[in-house]
Amino acid sequence: MIFDYAPAPESRSVVRLRENYDLFIDGEFTPGKDGDQMSTVNPADETELARFTVAGASDVDRAVAAARRAYDTVWSRMAGAERGKYLFRIARVIQERSRELAVLESLDNGKPIKETRDVDLPLVAAHFFYYAGWADKLAHAGLGPDPRPLGVAAQVIPWNFPLLMLAWKVAPALATGNTVVLKPAETTPLTALVFAQICQEADLPPGVVNIVTGAGETGRALVEHPGADKVAFTGSTEVGRQIARSVAGSDKRLTLELGGKGANIVYDDAAVDQAVEGVVSGIFFNQGHVCCAGSRLLVQESIADELLPRLKDRIAKLRLGDPLDKNTDIGAINSAAQLRRIRELTDSGAEEGVERWSPSCDLPPSGYWFAPTVLTGVSQAHRVAREEIFGPVLSVLTFRTPEEAVTKANNTPYGLSAGVWTEKGSRMLWTAERLRAGVIWSNTFNKFDPTSPFGGYKESGYGREGGRHGLEAYLG
Ligand code: NAD
Ligand code: MG
Repeated sequence: MIFDYAPAPESRSVVRLRENYDLFIDGEFTPGKDGDQMSTVNPADETELARFTVAGASDVDRAVAAARRAYDTVWSRMAGAERGKYLFRIARVIQERSRELAVLESLDNGKPIKETRDVDLPLVAAHFFYYAGWADKLAHAGLGPDPRPLGVAAQVIPWNFPLLMLAWKVAPALATGNTVVLKPAETTPLTALVFAQICQEADLPPGVVNIVTGAGETGRALVEHPGADKVAFTGSTEVGRQIARSVAGSDKRLTLELGGKGANIVYDDAAVDQAVEGVVSGIFFNQGHVCCAGSRLLVQESIADELLPRLKDRIAKLRLGDPLDKNTDIGAINSAAQLRRIRELTDSGAEEGVERWSPSCDLPPSGYWFAPTVLTGVSQAHRVAREEIFGPVLSVLTFRTPEEAVTKANNTPYGLSAGVWTEKGSRMLWTAERLRAGVIWSNTFNKFDPTSPFGGYKESGYGREGGRHGLEAYLG
């Protein structure tokens, strides 16, 4: 029987967009000094959602000064249990407003409502709850009897998980007694601006959280500001390198969470259907805009002929389209610039002789879209095996022995994530011990939990976010 799904769109009416958004400094929404603005669009149809303020150097100055004042006079002096109350309150307001935030995130980012509703928002709230619980227990974190906050944290985040990356940065910083100035990405500023409203609703003391919007120049002014004691960045390796250079020689503390080229290793004894599901979600979750995506499938040669057709059958069943439709698996690519990058890199594979496959799939007439794509005949020298595509494109390589699997998996400048699919516990442990990656999943992929540290080796960056380890980055 052939049937199709009727559209099941989530309503936009829970979101009340303003036409213009100001900066959030010292507890108030305030216009920028220069009056410059940018707009953010819905990548699913290219319509403008709202305009927002581009913070200039003097605005960043004001935000850092407000954070310093709040740090000196209120936040660093407050008992941990009191700070914890604010964080619990923020977590509860996020839960109350989670439907609104999920719809807004899907509108601004293009990711499916199924993911914002079931993954992003529950994890955002869980992160605040988790670190709220640490606020009065820092003396028991294994970091000495009286660990001290660092001061003002300058935080810059990307567009792939806008509110979740905010939570990863803001929750541990506040729990440990630091104050923050955060810059969201220029294509996805809206949930951070609603988060500013949530800080007001939770009566957070003015200046503890400041949100400055804008593009790279605003980010640069923030991370280079002499008043920042700590810099935390998630984004591209290229910008991460620039930031590391600018911070070098200062006494600022730095954590970087950069790109990845994760290997998903499937051994011949793996449960094939389960592995297929994990490989599919490993690369097509969030359109592949995931730093820890399983973007390289390493499949044991003896089962490649069995696995690849099953993988393609499964991919052909993914539904691409309206991010607000509850049936949608693959939403829009976040920006025209990202779409160009994905096309350029994928085309380079075709030019280098790899075989390219996508299911037949109608792309909507407007907006930024890229069909799920599988590249086979990939060798380690190809660009598509080495560079991060950050899109719904899977590169397939094969191996014969476990030693070859490990060598190929580690043959990358990155070291963020990996997956191992096997029924044998000993083989799983043997492999995991030899992989140079910060996170290794076994018989699953892309599982996140606030109690679990996350971070990379090599060009994937340094420092850990999440769990007890995540406190360390904000304590002296
Ligand atoms: P990017 O690094 O340029 O942007 C990330 C954030 O940094 C944004 O908020 C941006 O405004 C800010 N920024 C840009 N230049 C800056 C500077 N000089 N100083 C301080 N802040 C600055 O990333 P992008 O251009 O959006 O994406 C490019 C590539 O980066 C992607 O294709 C992907 O490979 C990678 N990426 C990785 C992650 C990740 O989660 N690790 C996230 C986004 C992008
Ligand atoms: Mg947008």
